[in-house]
Amino acid sequence: MATYPTLKLHVAGEWRSRPGAPVHNPLDDSVVGEVPHATKADLDDALAAAVEGQRAWRRTSPVKRQAIMRAAAQLIRERADAIADSITLEQGKPHAQAKIEAIRACDIIEWDAEEGRRAYGRVIPAEPGMRHIVLREPIGIVAGFAPWNFPISSPTRKVAGALAAGCAIILKASEETPAGAMHLVEAFVDAGVPKGALQLLYGVPSEISEYLIPQATVRLVTFTGSVPVGKRLAALAGQYMKPAIMELGGHAPVIVCDDIDVDAAAAVSATVKSRNAGQVCVAPTRFFVDDAVHDRFAAAMGEKAKAVKIGNGLDPATMMGPVANHRRVEAMERLVADAVSRGARVLAGGERVGNQGCLYPLTVLADVPDDALAMQEEPFGPLALISRTRSLDEAITKANSLPFGLAGYAFTNSAPRVEQLSDQLEVGNLSINHLVASIAETPFGGVKDSGYGREGGSEGLACYTVTKNVSHLVG
Ligand code: NAD
Repeated sequence: MATYPTLKLHVAGEWRSRPGAPVHNPLDDSVVGEVPHATKADLDDALAAAVEGQRAWRRTSPVKRQAIMRAAAQLIRERADAIADSITLEQGKPHAQAKIEAIRACDIIEWDAEEGRRAYGRVIPAEPGMRHIVLREPIGIVAGFAPWNFPISSPTRKVAGALAAGCAIILKASEETPAGAMHLVEAFVDAGVPKGALQLLYGVPSEISEYLIPQATVRLVTFTGSVPVGKRLAALAGQYMKPAIMELGGHAPVIVCDDIDVDAAAAVSATVKSRNAGQVCVAPTRFFVDDAVHDRFAAAMGEKAKAVKIGNGLDPATMMGPVANHRRVEAMERLVADAVSRGARVLAGGERVGNQGCLYPLTVLADVPDDALAMQEEPFGPLALISRTRSLDEAITKANSLPFGLAGYAFTNSAPRVEQLSDQLEVGNLSINHLVASIAETPFGGVKDSGYGREGGSEGLACYTVTKNVSHLVG
């Protein structure tokens, strides 16, 4: 029997209960819990405690910080089954995928913890008697805003990056999928993170972000979510001269060339598209398929998609759960209806399953015209769009035609094509012959409207530091 925790805020070293709003299971709309909403006094307490937490954490040696972070990761590993229960109940993804998400959070924490020990500066050669020393210092208190699609791994990106760099963080996690973040914070608290170094809030998102971001003690804003909200928060951060990490939407192109194993590429595409019901900012979405292999690729992907079993994420046979909320169902219905009205063909899915909850099947559309709404708006759901192209130049032009630039993918075995794709695709992460956009040690983030700053890799940690140059004239 899957269990769901009693949700609490974590402020100034205390777990606090507050009235709030119901949390729904997207499988059947049932209520699984109640998310507490922070009061203004909670926000003020969190800000005051963060100042103390920042001081204590910065003075904790990198080795000790790493030990606490590794201990938190170990607790998450031990609790992964219970964490996966919560995530499946609040967000819908299959239990096995939820568990993989929890383990991925551990990988991120462990890698960041190790890398935090290597925040080296440098010494710049100078004339005799002069020393120029470049120090990398923690930037200070971070305000982090995490979304609902990865309830534990998305907040982990922010928490692990901030803590590894020596920063305190106030995390405002998703109100729709709050338990993942609570498990994360609980593991750190149990592992011994000092009071105020990591705090957890939920509430009305705009009220919390508009209150926290202008505060003088908050030094960095990190947000994962939609482009419109990201632009609003980035503008607010800019108004108060705060740097920001913006990990926003994507609309990933997949360029399929004629020199590959078509069936294998179609199979992996259907599988990866089904993960998290397509609600992934790096989900493969616009498939630009060379004319020579188009028909075979489309047919194979349609067949693979039809075989994806959709249902209750707690059933081990389920391959794809519901989408996370009714907004996503409505978006799928609107985008599919629009594409079909413009001539797209439905190769798989295309209609909601049942009339309760948020089950929407893996849907593959072919002959999707460039002006279909789905080709421009991020579907953020189980929708794969196939379009025929006649050259690599044409595919790259179409891939680059949107304001998004997060992940991009290609299938080819030609070295010159790999070179051209690497050179010309406007994305932050390009994966060739596979569909994994990032791992803990690689920098992840976008260009254009997909945002700026990086999460993961040494570039990610650098975003949580500031550079200080110290010049010292001896004698
Ligand atoms: P939305 O634009 O209403 O919200 C996006 C996220 O921002 C949510 O987590 C929400 O709680 C948060 N948010 C909204 N207003 C905020 C504010 N003023 N201050 C702080 N946080 C705020 O969209 P939605 O319906 O929740 O999600 C759908 C869209 O969001 C998708 O189309 C997708 O583009 C984007 N999204 C992207 C990611 C990602 O990983 N980059 C994750 C989740 C959602």
